[in-house]
Amino acid sequence: MARVSGTGGGTHAVVIGGSMAGLLGARVLATYFDRVTVIERDWFPEGPEFRAGVPQSRHLHVLLVKGLELLEQFFPGLRKDLLDAGAEIVRWPADVLWLSPVGWSRRFPKSLSLLSASRELFEWGVRRRLAALPNVRLMDGHEATGLLASRDNADVTGVQVRKRAERGLGGTGVSTESTPLPADLVLDAGGRNSHAPRWLVELGYAAPSETTINPQLGYASRYYARPKGLHTNWKGLFISARPDSPRGGIIFPIEGDRWLVTLAGYGADYPPTDEAGFMEFARSLRSRVIYEALDDAAPLSPIRGYQRTENHWRHYERLDRWPERLLVTGDAVCAFNPVYGQGMTAAALAATTLDRCLREQRRQRPNGDLNGLARRFQREVAKRSGAVWLLATGEDLRYPTTQGAKPDLVTRLFHRYVDRVMEVATEHADVHLIFVEVLHLLRPPRALFRPEVLLPALRGRRAGALDVPPLGSAGAPLPA
Ligand SMILES: Cc1cc2nc3c(=O)[nH]c(=O)nc-3n(C[C@H](O)[C@H](O)[C@H](O)COP(=O)(O)OP(=O)(O)OC[C@H]3O[C@@H](n4cnc5c(N)ncnc54)[C@H](O)[C@@H]3O)c2cc1C
Repeated sequence: MARVSGTGGGTHAVVIGGSMAGLLGARVLATYFDRVTVIERDWFPEGPEFRAGVPQSRHLHVLLVKGLELLEQFFPGLRKDLLDAGAEIVRWPADVLWLSPVGWSRRFPKSLSLLSASRELFEWGVRRRLAALPNVRLMDGHEATGLLASRDNADVTGVQVRKRAERGLGGTGVSTESTPLPADLVLDAGGRNSHAPRWLVELGYAAPSETTINPQLGYASRYYARPKGLHTNWKGLFISARPDSPRGGIIFPIEGDRWLVTLAGYGADYPPTDEAGFMEFARSLRSRVIYEALDDAAPLSPIRGYQRTENHWRHYERLDRWPERLLVTGDAVCAFNPVYGQGMTAAALAATTLDRCLREQRRQRPNGDLNGLARRFQREVAKRSGAVWLLATGEDLRYPTTQGAKPDLVTRLFHRYVDRVMEVATEHADVHLIFVEVLHLLRPPRALFRPEVLLPALRGRRAGALDVPPLGSAGAPLPA
């Protein structure tokens, strides 16, 4: 790969942000560059613990099965690491009581295996594996404050870096001086707060146009100890919101014998963070199963809210001018309403796109020239994000309170068709599995139009909606 003067020690890539998108991007870069440095503002905790730069980690993070597959490809053995650290396998639908928007779903034995854990554990598992690579350096407690560029600003040549307060010193001791860190390639994975738009303007480029579709969704979450001696044949409870009842909730098991309970409301109907309000919100869901399960569970934390959940796309791919050697990935490009659990998997998909683009670059320009890579990457990432964006925003457009777009005729017809598919999926194991595989990004949305889904969907639901949760053993006939 290319070498810019002054980097020393071979080719060097710098990643801004040490969260999921940055860590996975660094994993790919480590294959192509002699050295990779990940700059992270926070000091990384030793173990799977909270850190301020990822405030959303206190809320349930479902890792889609596609995301788990990709993580395992990047770090063979990671799944076992996570299981050893207390992550749990949850079979969907066998282990989950799900009140879908169209009624209770049966719990077929034919299932996808999800790995359920806290966001902190997923990130820690990836970080630990990455840190073990000999050519990767995690430079935590450091903040990127700007980009370095060639004299004509045509090439990004590194970042300006400032050290933050020493670990454990709170706000004191912040260095005001920033130092240059030269690099052959810079990958910005700074999340929703990425400074890339401002930095581009400082270099004389335009900021990207942005699309925002905001369902005004709010979360409130709390950790609980799983009740001792509780014998259930379910591991998770999930009550979906729907436009006429825009409140939902979920209980999922995480490491440490805990439950993470997340309540969510659309249209600015935010779940309260005080004890009484939180419980009242849980009681007001379409079923009381979550409220009743919490009756016996001991809280382990305060209740925490989060409202920055809008779908937000920065269209770097549309810019006419773009500096070489600067790439942007993860939430910094495209962040989704989190309720569909896509963010970490989208970050992993972007890392595979980076891998493909770097491989292609090497094939086309074996001399290590990086010109053209950045633009190709932004276009490819945009293309791949498009499908995920449509899944997330398409659902959000069902809610009249969603800001930023209205459903057109095609979207409304699609909603009606998906409702039919969901109805049939509540009673038809094969349709259910295909539907869930689409949600987990294992199949493209067009799989919903395959004959094995289309024909049952046209015939419609046979047995009628269940009006009680299927508490019998997974897949068994329902209680009368
Ligand atoms: C409430 C909520 C629930 C979610 N639930 C799910 C879920 O169920 N499943 C799922 O897959 N995803 C979920 N997500 C999305 C998921 O959290 C993100 O998509 C995922 O973390 C990838 O984001 P990222 O790495 O791009 O950015 P982030 O996770 O936001 O990380 C950005 C990182 O960059 C660092 N940083 C920023 N600026 C600088 C700088 N200048 N210098 C140095 N460091 C910097 C920050 O400290 C941080 O570590 C959820 C999000 C929210 C808000």
